[in-house]
Formats: sequence, structure tokens, C-alpha cells
Amino acid sequence: MTQPVGVAGEASRPDAATVPPPLEGRTALVTGGGKGIGRATAIALAEMGASVVVAYRSDSGAAEETAHQVGGSAVQCDVTDGEAVQAMVKGIGKVDVLVNNAGAVRDNLLLRMKEADWDYILRTDLTSAFHTTKAVMSGMLRARWGRIVNMTSVVGITGNPGQANYAAAKAGLIGFTKSIAKEIGSRSITCNAVAPGYVRTELTEASLTDEIVAELVKRTPLQREGSAEDVAAAVAFLCSPAAGFITGHVLVVDGGLSI
Ligand code: NAD
Repeated sequence: MTQPVGVAGEASRPDAATVPPPLEGRTALVTGGGKGIGRATAIALAEMGASVVVAYRSDSGAAEETAHQVGGSAVQCDVTDGEAVQAMVKGIGKVDVLVNNAGAVRDNLLLRMKEADWDYILRTDLTSAFHTTKAVMSGMLRARWGRIVNMTSVVGITGNPGQANYAAAKAGLIGFTKSIAKEIGSRSITCNAVAPGYVRTELTEASLTDEIVAELVKRTPLQREGSAEDVAAAVAFLCSPAAGFITGHVLVVDGGLSI
């Protein structure tokens, strides 16, 4: 039987203004959230109703500005420091949504790569997620709800010359994501990864010249550059109720470049 349409149908629909935003009452922690993809993610999650905490390592100006923009707060924390992460999460109280966005690059061909640069990238891009996820996990398990999104990279899937350290860390993050998804799925906590292609931010500023960007756009099926907002939209989707049955997934956001 078909549903009645027209005035009666309209009246039975909930008024959009009365529907609470999907993350209302939830607290979201975005690491490295002061600028770039992290900032766009903080904005997207705040638009979904979350109270957003922006964690930063050193750029307090950018983090305070982002926090002000989203009506949230900024907190200083080097995510490679496990004790500092524990203290930060204790200070926040409860974290319902964790976005492991903080990351760095120290590129070089392996023959010239110093062990210190290998270690630094592994600690920043991979071990950081171990610290933060461990710190928020018991709260999420108690709440029987949570969303964890790890910022990996297409480079973690395809590899990239000059980025053995970064690619290894980002590939490790994918294995971490899938393992955590299996460990905590029974408590309605999802753990997914987002894998951006190239997005112009401070991270890629040095390596992405205009010529390289033009070449990348030429090879990209969608024929344009990606933006921090494109990536943030994918994170927001994975944190939304619509993604409630998606876990352990790697959502590639690269305009088709890596297919
Ligand atoms: P960005 O440099 O603007 O952001 C990285 C943030 O992480 C910065 O705010 C930085 O201060 C912070 N950070 C670094 N080390 C930290 C630490 N130890 N503790 C706390 N914060 C720390 O660059 P972005 O492009 O916005 O990068 C965001 C994430 O996206 C990173 O994980 C990056 O690897 C990933 N990513 C970026 C691209 C791209 O093309 N821009 C592509 C794929 C993946």
C-alpha cells in the first residue's frame, strides 16, 4: 500500500529544527586540530553538535583560534608522550569521539634516512594513536559507544619513494585500526581510518610545488585538488549515525588518484 502524500504526510515528518544534531552531548578530541585537515575536522564535528577539544603540540595561536571558531577548547599535548596523553584525557573527562589526526613527515630516500627520522615518524604517526586510543578506551567501553577515526594516507596503501618511514607508520595505522575495530566492536565503538591523497597544507607545502600539483590533478579522475574539507567530510560521515555499521574500514579520499 502506498503512503499518503501531501499535507498529512508533511505534518507527520519531524520538524528539522526539533531534531537534535547527531553528536549533541558528545565530546570530540581532535589531535593536531589547530590547522589543516584537523581544523576542518574540528569544524565539521562541531557542526554536528559535538563539543570539540583541539589538541596541539606547539602552535597555541592556531589551536586557540580553531577552538574559538568551534566554541570548544584547546589543550596542549604532545601525543608522542603517553603520560601527557593520559593527563589530557583525564582533564577532558570523557571522550566520545577521537580523531587521531596529528602527523608529520621527515622525507628522505632510505639510504639517506637517519634512524632518528624513522623513529620520530613512527612515534608521531603511529605510536601516538596507541597512546590516545588506550587513554580513551575505558571511557568508551563504559559508555558502550564511541567513534575512533585514524588519519592514515594513501601512501600507507601504495607506498611512496622517499617516505618509507611515513608509509610504514600509516600502513601500521591501518592494521591498528582493524585490530581495534575487532577488539571493541561489541560495545558499539567503531574504529575506522581515512586515507587522504594529497591536500595542500603545511605538511605538504615543501613537497607540493605548483608543477607537481598540476601533474597530480591531471592523473586524478575527479580532475581537481583535494581540500581539507573533503577529508573532514569523510571523518564526519564515519562519526555520524549513518556510519553506525561501518568499522575497520579505510575510506580513501583522493579523487580516485590511487585507483
Ligand atoms: P598539518 O601539518 O597542518 O597538521 C598536522 C598537525 O599535527 C599539526 O597541527 C601539528 O602540530 C600536529 N602534530 C604533529 N606532531 C604532533 C605531536 N607530537 N603532538 C601533537 N600534535 C602534533 O598537516 P595536515 O596535512 O593537516 O595533516 C593532518 C593529518 O593528515 C596527518 O596525520 C597527515 O599525515 C595526514 N595526511 C595529510 C595529507 C595531505 O596531503 N595533507 C595526505 C595524507 C594524510
